Amino acid sequence: MQLTDQDVCTTCNGTGWLIENRDGTDVAQPCPACRTERLKQRLLRSAQLPPRYVEKGFDVYHPFESRSQEEALRKSLEYVERYPNVARGLLFAGPCGVGKTHLSVAILKTLVQEQLISARFIDEAEFLRRLQYSYGPDSPDTEREVLLPLMDVDLLVWDDLGTGRATEWARETIRMVLNHRYTYNKQTILSTNRSVEEGAGPTSPRREESLAERIGHRLYSRLMEMCEVVEIHGPDARTKIFKASMDFQEKSGRKSSGSRQKPAPDDLECPHCHAASITILDESRLRRSRGASFFDIFCRCRPCGSDFLVRFYPETSKIEYPTLNNSSL
Ligand code: ADP
Repeated sequence: MQLTDQDVCTTCNGTGWLIENRDGTDVAQPCPACRTERLKQRLLRSAQLPPRYVEKGFDVYHPFESRSQEEALRKSLEYVERYPNVARGLLFAGPCGVGKTHLSVAILKTLVQEQLISARFIDEAEFLRRLQYSYGPDSPDTEREVLLPLMDVDLLVWDDLGTGRATEWARETIRMVLNHRYTYNKQTILSTNRSVEEGAGPTSPRREESLAERIGHRLYSRLMEMCEVVEIHGPDARTKIFKASMDFQEKSGRKSSGSRQKPAPDDLECPHCHAASITILDESRLRRSRGASFFDIFCRCRPCGSDFLVRFYPETSKIEYPTLNNSSL
């Protein structure tokens, strides 16, 4: 039975209970018709999936771009099939937009729906911000309320490991949560944009910190025990989506002329929280550097308040986020 919150179960009239008379005594029994469905919905709600990812499942994941996407899909389905008889979680590693979060969410949703497990999704930067805020006098949540669900749930999806502020406190907090889960045999699925090679090359200001450098070698080696690394490569789906939307505009005549059209706020996404609710604060004129022309677009994310810079190359429709070391979204 598929019930939304507004639907009323016709078997129990929405009470969730049926009254049975046993030997002259009325006994309340949970309604078998709607109980499981409502439980699923409650579990999904408490998983706190970001609205953008609520509809993401295996059915809409297309490994069209690379063998590694195919392999990642296979490993994810195998994980779901074997759960709870799985020794280790998964750590998806790869550049932005290859579907790491999509697959993590698909695993979570399938397990909640098929096995009624408790689960929780967190984005690292957002989690650390909430935890820090919980120490303030105006916070509606205590530290315990922020931390406990992450320790207790059957499955934790930890998105964008290594993106929060790299303070000793942050490292210690992440280590505490993940260590707790390891000790109590709780499954964790993680994703990261950072390199998972432990032996990092010579440090230079241009090279991004590897995951081990960012989270510390102790936590890194614990993670390697907890999770199987699944590397995903391929082009950024968000850029493809953007290109498709530009093509669509071109075909449908919404675009005025040539390729100089700049992206609309709807085409952009916050690199921090992935919300698509963006305000454009300012735009540069067409500029040129190293033979390429581009516009700089200064943006603010309405939900999370971060400011970021988008660089748009009209000849190729490519988008870069220069403040994130030129990683394109
Ligand atoms: P990542 O976590 O690797 O940065 P996401 O999972 O957030 O990437 O993907 C960005 C967007 O692209 C999402 O809307 C996601 O659903 C979509 N996407 C990425 N890869 C695929 C794919 N292989 N099939 C379908 N959609 C995809």
